[in-house]
Amino acid sequence: MKYILYARKSSEDKSKQILSLESQVSEMKKLASSLGLEISQIYTESKSAKLPNNRPLFLEMLKLLENGTGDYGILCWKIDRLSRNPIDSGKIQWLLQQSKIKVIQTSDKQYLPSDNVLLLNIEGSMANQYILDLSKNVKRGLRTKLEKGGWPCIAPIGYLNDGKGGILIDKERAPYVKQIFEMYISGNYTIKEIADKIYAYGLKSRGGNKYHKSQIYTLLNNKFYYGIMTSHGEEYQGNHEPIISKRLFEEAQEMAHKKQHVKKNKLDFIFRGLMICARCGCLYTASKKRGKHIYYYCTNGRNKCEEHKSYLKETDAVKMLADVFERLTFPEEVINLMYEASLDKLKQKAENEQYHKIKNELLKRLKIREDRQAELFNLLLDKAISKDDFEAKGKIITDELNSLNEELKTLENKNQPLAKTTLEQMKNLFLAQQALRNKFLKAKPNKQREIIKNILWNAEVMDGKITNIKFKEPYSLFAKDPQKGSLDLMWAHKDSNPGPLRCKRSALAS
Ligand SMILES: [Zn+2]
Repeated sequence: MKYILYARKSSEDKSKQILSLESQVSEMKKLASSLGLEISQIYTESKSAKLPNNRPLFLEMLKLLENGTGDYGILCWKIDRLSRNPIDSGKIQWLLQQSKIKVIQTSDKQYLPSDNVLLLNIEGSMANQYILDLSKNVKRGLRTKLEKGGWPCIAPIGYLNDGKGGILIDKERAPYVKQIFEMYISGNYTIKEIADKIYAYGLKSRGGNKYHKSQIYTLLNNKFYYGIMTSHGEEYQGNHEPIISKRLFEEAQEMAHKKQHVKKNKLDFIFRGLMICARCGCLYTASKKRGKHIYYYCTNGRNKCEEHKSYLKETDAVKMLADVFERLTFPEEVINLMYEASLDKLKQKAENEQYHKIKNELLKRLKIREDRQAELFNLLLDKAISKDDFEAKGKIITDELNSLNEELKTLENKNQPLAKTTLEQMKNLFLAQQALRNKFLKAKPNKQREIIKNILWNAEVMDGKITNIKFKEPYSLFAKDPQKGSLDLMWAHKDSNPGPLRCKRSALAS
């Protein structure tokens, strides 16, 4: 038996996966020699196989097969090199069935007359169409299901797939979902803080891990929880039981909007976004009055608060918040421990991948120079180069080494000092207990903001006065006995949950 080698690549075959004509020929020659096959003819053709009867050499090959002894096999790299249209495929199949082609050998398969001839079709051009139709049908099926109120995908956190295409409430996790929404609208937590808290409360992923803040964010934006399914930009009414009310969802959206707003303007006003209304729970905002004084007031987001008629002057707020430090005592040992811990965390954070990548690159370049320096010195010892040459080349390498070392130092410095200085200042601030209050008063506004944000949950304000503050951990551990506190401040550091606020909120909602 003799083999005809057929290779084809058209200008339409843009894919890099398709070998060039030469490579197809050499691949198949290699295969033939390893299988001990004799090649009688080689046809190479640069034509598309999408249209039938479009390839003169292919037609010539067919004629040869039809009229020949019938003792021929075909060698081609992939079956689609032979044909990509049903007419040409049909001709090949017919020849194969009649045993006028004894075998088709590709780089990974063998097709024999006894084989199911449909294989040729499915693996050729029709495979594409088949896959296209399939995905169209799947999409159509998904849409039908959505329109009927069913969810065709994996259930979000708080729900379960029942295995029969339905969605059930996950009794164990659904309460956490509601809690996440409630924590978020309280305004007391960042999404990161919610992720940490809810994990501590017991919500874990299937693998037992903490949900990432991005997952909490997605959850807070998923209308599924009040009954609406979103898919490819379309909304559908779901059959599943909601976990939260539409109103709770919308409040979370409002909060997200506010937080964005606060973030954008945070440097204008020190305490914006850090104080809330004791009456209605809304965030306080601020504006400049009469050109210079800054006043804080309730945004009255729920439209049922009279508190927005009273104002808190920023300078007064600073003084009131400075009193906070008289409520704290820090043992020096604890402060040092905290500092060390934060420093460690900082280091880990700073030494991120990018930094490592650049640093390793620099170290590699340094190593090359150092090796060269040693090599050069060996050459001098072996008297392979003159002393002058040694010095000239040595100077170049030394210069390169110096500048690389400098680059490395800059990189390392850039990576740490700012945050470290801040930490150091904080540490010293807390260490100097007596001076704490004064230092806070003298600090720059953005520093004041940073400190307050670090140690306190949102302060509650009523009638132009701060009425309630609560220390964040670990500062809550160092708060003095609340009974001895000043009379106008009510300390609530015992519980790390902002309980009162939530009660107030639900009282309002009912
Ligand atoms: Zn209010």
